Amino acid sequence: MINLVQSLKENVLFTQAILDNVIDGIIIIDNRGIVQSFNRAAETIFGYTADEIIGRNVNMLMPEPYHSEHDDYLENYHATGIQHIIGIGREVEGRRKDGSIFPMDLAVSRSTHNGQPLFIGLVRDITERKRVELMKTEFVSTVSHELRTPLTSITGALGLVVGGALGEVPEQAKVMLDIAYKNSKRLALLINDLLDMEKLAAGKMHLDLQTQPLMPLVEQTLEAVRAYGEQYQVNFELTERADDMQVRVDSGRLQQVLTNFLSNAAKFSPPGAQVEVAVRQHKNAVQVEVIDHGPGISAEFRSRIFQKFSQADSSDTRQKGGTGLGLAISKEFIERMSGLIGFDSEEGQGARFYFQLPVCRTQEITQQPANTFILGAVRLLVVEDDPDIATLLSMMLNRVGYHVDVAANGEVALNYLAHNEYAAMTLDQMLPDQGGAALIRRIRSQTETEALPIIVVSAFIEDGKLVINSEFNAIDWIEKPFEESRLTAAVRRALPTTARMQEVERCMEQRSGVPTQSACKPRVLHVEDDVDLHQIVATIGRDVADFDVANNLAEARANLALERYSLVVLDIGLPDGWGWELLTELKRLNPEPPVIVLSGSEMTQQQQDIVQSALVKTRIPNQNLLDTLKRLLAGNALSKGKTIL
Ligand code: ADP
Repeated sequence: MINLVQSLKENVLFTQAILDNVIDGIIIIDNRGIVQSFNRAAETIFGYTADEIIGRNVNMLMPEPYHSEHDDYLENYHATGIQHIIGIGREVEGRRKDGSIFPMDLAVSRSTHNGQPLFIGLVRDITERKRVELMKTEFVSTVSHELRTPLTSITGALGLVVGGALGEVPEQAKVMLDIAYKNSKRLALLINDLLDMEKLAAGKMHLDLQTQPLMPLVEQTLEAVRAYGEQYQVNFELTERADDMQVRVDSGRLQQVLTNFLSNAAKFSPPGAQVEVAVRQHKNAVQVEVIDHGPGISAEFRSRIFQKFSQADSSDTRQKGGTGLGLAISKEFIERMSGLIGFDSEEGQGARFYFQLPVCRTQEITQQPANTFILGAVRLLVVEDDPDIATLLSMMLNRVGYHVDVAANGEVALNYLAHNEYAAMTLDQMLPDQGGAALIRRIRSQTETEALPIIVVSAFIEDGKLVINSEFNAIDWIEKPFEESRLTAAVRRALPTTARMQEVERCMEQRSGVPTQSACKPRVLHVEDDVDLHQIVATIGRDVADFDVANNLAEARANLALERYSLVVLDIGLPDGWGWELLTELKRLNPEPPVIVLSGSEMTQQQQDIVQSALVKTRIPNQNLLDTLKRLLAGNALSKGKTIL
């Protein structure tokens, strides 16, 4: 008997010694969550002694919301048997005695003692591992961002030479330059993929979801990849279309997914093959599919195809380019746009990659501001005292991209006009403080607004026309109730858009080849500390503008004090601060120049919203940069009226 007691004692001591010496924390709780056992490692991890914990609810080791939810969770488990954590390892957060919160790995298993269930939690503090992971991610991110600036210079410079912008290149040199250009673009793709992946993994990827028609996105993407297809002698054919389908997507990211499908299809197709693209409706969803006639996907590779860095044949990286990240990124994007992605393939017969997106109802569409980007520089004043009509007018004008301010009476309108530059205004004829005619008279008597186009929105236009038309010019009329198309047409007419745009274009055309002689050439300030990149940007835009460079914020301020610029191209990371700091100062200028941010980092939606254009280095081909410069310079000419032409 004594021997038995002795041996039991030894057993208990032996078990306790094991429990005390394992490196992981072991916490045993009963079915109500009350702690039964707390080993030494757990004491070290949480900072409590076993005496302070045993007999108390385990939820005291958890931060919110787990702290409050744990009892319910246990109850639920007993009632339904549904396990969220039991039997599965998870990364969760723990709370130490001093209140600090830390990441930990938790694995829970279930056992029974005297007929009662017990839960054994194995806890490992992973603070250090997380810190190293974060350092690693930050390192990859910093290096990749730093690589963007020089790489943009390299790709931009090679693009100019290869594209013939700087004259003939000897044939032999051209072959080498083509190789260099192709590979610089490959490197840019790799860096962009790496950064996307890292952002998605860190939960920092922001998608700008807008309701919009799908077909134009598909068609633009096809157009953009056509040249890529030609490299592989592959032709893209749109075989089926679904017009009038609206989807809620981030247009850039959707095009990135489709580009990935199309470029894979081209890469893996035999020369001379055709790749078909079909867009078709599927109940409440619309499906876009890309069908190729290449080798297809082997059965062995199918389950891994959407994983990071997975390629069927590791030599693909060298032979076909690519990173094995494209489809992993595409899957994340499509799922975050509430869609699904998939493929089917028979080995040797080709592959069909597709994504499906929910179709948006028309009602959702009407609430969407459309295309604020294109006309972002054009500012309109709506003078209207009825708040509902004012909202309606602003909404309609916002939808087509105008920036709108609303004044509820004549005095407020005059105040707005004195402090801002408007391209046109709409006017309610019956304002609470003065009649429309009186207000127009005052507006016309000021030199700054004597030619301001005015659209009178009135329920009694015939009476008004008699009084006002005889006296003033540049007045248009819209009768209440009015239709959206009537309003936007009137605004378009009021702004001499086409005439001015054409004039700007003509001016630009005349200038090509004679970069320094034109009097109408706008000046652009490029704030960029990388001299090479500045030179590339100035060369890309040399036909449309003259460029000044500022290497830092201080130089930019000095330039802005001396010169009126039609546009500012702004880098963000500058030696003496962030480019964003300059924005408030630019806002105070009259006229306020539009801003293109050309940065190595991806920008948040909020940051993109405060400038006219946000471009990311390595993501922007020369032609797109030139188009953006042209558009904003033309927009600037438009909104500022006489400043350029
Ligand atoms: P990559 O940048 O390597 O193209 P993806 O994630 O886009 O990365 O594709 C991963 C891999 O999937 C490719 O390397 C290739 O092995 C396979 N794959 C993708 N699309 C096709 C296709 N249309 N035909 C055959 N294999 C494909």
